[in-house]
Amino acid sequence: MFSLYLHIPFCKRKCPYCDFYSQTNQEDKERYLSAVQKELALYAEHFYDEVVSIYFGGGTPSLLNSAEIGALLNCIARIYSVSTDCEITLESNPEQASVAYYRALYNAGINRLSIGVQSLDNRILQFLGRGHNAQEALYALEYAQHAGFRRISADVIYGIPSLSTSTLEATLRTLVGIEHISAYHLTLEEATAFGRMHARGKLKEVDEETSIAHFNLCNELLGRAGYEHYEISSFAQQSGYSRHNMGYWFDRPYLGVGAAAHSYDGRRRWWNHSNIQSYMNTITSGSLFPNQESLNEEERWEEWLLTHLRTQWGLNLAEGEQRFGRKRIETLIIKSRPLLQSQLLQEEAGRLYIPPNHFLVADEVIRELC
Ligand code: SF4
Repeated sequence: MFSLYLHIPFCKRKCPYCDFYSQTNQEDKERYLSAVQKELALYAEHFYDEVVSIYFGGGTPSLLNSAEIGALLNCIARIYSVSTDCEITLESNPEQASVAYYRALYNAGINRLSIGVQSLDNRILQFLGRGHNAQEALYALEYAQHAGFRRISADVIYGIPSLSTSTLEATLRTLVGIEHISAYHLTLEEATAFGRMHARGKLKEVDEETSIAHFNLCNELLGRAGYEHYEISSFAQQSGYSRHNMGYWFDRPYLGVGAAAHSYDGRRRWWNHSNIQSYMNTITSGSLFPNQESLNEEERWEEWLLTHLRTQWGLNLAEGEQRFGRKRIETLIIKSRPLLQSQLLQEEAGRLYIPPNHFLVADEVIRELC
């Protein structure tokens, strides 16, 4: 089993907080999509298992029309064995939403939409430099349902200066009922417009108290509404987990195609150039596994801790012992004692996990255990 990720690196404009690789110039779109198809073919002999999830991310995949998406899906189906219940997600900006477009995507094979709502407050959307307003975000969710999508996820950002808890609360309350909500804390990444403003002292990060208040609000409000807080940033109703992301957290191999995409086959990781031209040149020359690194035993162990402890299921000690040996698990148990005492960690039925209400400090907890 493996997952497929396709990176579509085009955006209408660059949002000031975003450090995903994308460009606003779409002149090379056709050549780029051909390169992606070629890359899919190049890796076929290395990924011959069944594809259980496909994810179109970016960038803005909803800038592609349904025929372009359909062509990529047909290409995948020709080359790989795709499971009959494969989860196929596409990230969509509300700006491109319409019932006709979403229906065409659905007919092309997309069965899950991840919609970049971010907030349902127009001032906050403006601050984030988004091209849609709150009403358009709500329409996008409605159109998706009308088009036949049962599996919908909405992205929300919190930890934003000037975002009050009551505004965040209003956004979350309105979104209750959507199967899946991904809620992220705003981070001021160095290589973004916000990061540069931060460096010049023009923009401050929210204080710790606000971060905690926003995080607790998501955890409690969505928890009361029947959502499982199943991963640091992910909430699902009725077990509507993102199967694709579960693959990343539970060590499933994945092939990432397109500029800046990362891949992992269980032993090594590699990643494509974060530049469309260099990416296309590499693919044209037929070379595989650019920028690769093999993971040693120590790195695999840390990766195992880091990914599993992000989730509500945490890690299975017996599985860890089988993979990494008894000694590591014994050391882990010793290191976990003070964290168990302070309830930042819990142990149940042979599993060690961080209770979701402490996910905000997951990084610190994991560091103690490494
Ligand atoms: S947040 Fe989305 S739309 Fe905005 S620049 Fe990043 S990838 Fe593009």
